[in-house]
Amino acid sequence: MAKFLDVRNKIYAVGIDIGGTHITAGLVSKNGKILKKKSVKIKKDLNAVIIQIKNLVKDVSSGYEILGVGIGCPGPLDSEKGVIKFAPNLGWRNIHLKKIVQSQLKKKIEIENDAKCFALGEIWKGEGMGIKNFVLLTLGTGVGGAIVINGKLYKGCGSAGEIGHMVIDVNGPKCSCGRRGCLEEFVSERGIVRLAKKKLKEKGIKIPKKISPEKIEISAKKGCPVAKEVWAETANNLKIGLANIINIFDPEKIILS
Ligand SMILES: [Zn+2]
Repeated sequence: MAKFLDVRNKIYAVGIDIGGTHITAGLVSKNGKILKKKSVKIKKDLNAVIIQIKNLVKDVSSGYEILGVGIGCPGPLDSEKGVIKFAPNLGWRNIHLKKIVQSQLKKKIEIENDAKCFALGEIWKGEGMGIKNFVLLTLGTGVGGAIVINGKLYKGCGSAGEIGHMVIDVNGPKCSCGRRGCLEEFVSERGIVRLAKKKLKEKGIKIPKKISPEKIEISAKKGCPVAKEVWAETANNLKIGLANIINIFDPEKIILS
């Protein structure tokens, strides 16, 4: 188990979320309150991302003494060694992120998979409070997952919980992980947008330039039949994934975010 930054006994720490489209930093108090927050669009190049992290930490912690920095990253990683094994949505493989950021910031750094960080937050202050067994899914650029058993993260040999890469259709679209039909390819942002484009094309309707799950949701609520179809099909695919999770873990709760 990783040695997470325990802000409960100290004053402040910085949390960084490396997402598929943005990097977000927050200054957190020992009570878990976010005092400052800043988000920037993520750059493609790793070196540029390191500079972005450095600048964000400086910005949000300006005037505060911080215990260290906790970084949440997508994909399977080795939190002990601080190495990102594979982040398909960012194109990163075997990146020694902890070492690199530590050398830049000269602060204590811990890294963990982003969905697992989310689950730790839910155990501490959120929907996971007082819940012994739950499964968490993050739906966004990709689909992250975390499994909590007896109040603790279950990590298997290191990276258990990659629920987004559970295959729900062997003939489905190719996933960034190399396989076909992973849950992520159906219920992530790109999966939903792909389905919407396919349906619009089939019906001979012009595909709008900017199309996003948020816009599809608004259209569905307004009664647009194509958007409603996309939403229903996405919900159905998510249901297949959730049913598999329930069959394997029988959790008290499944947290979707
Ligand atoms: Zn996959």
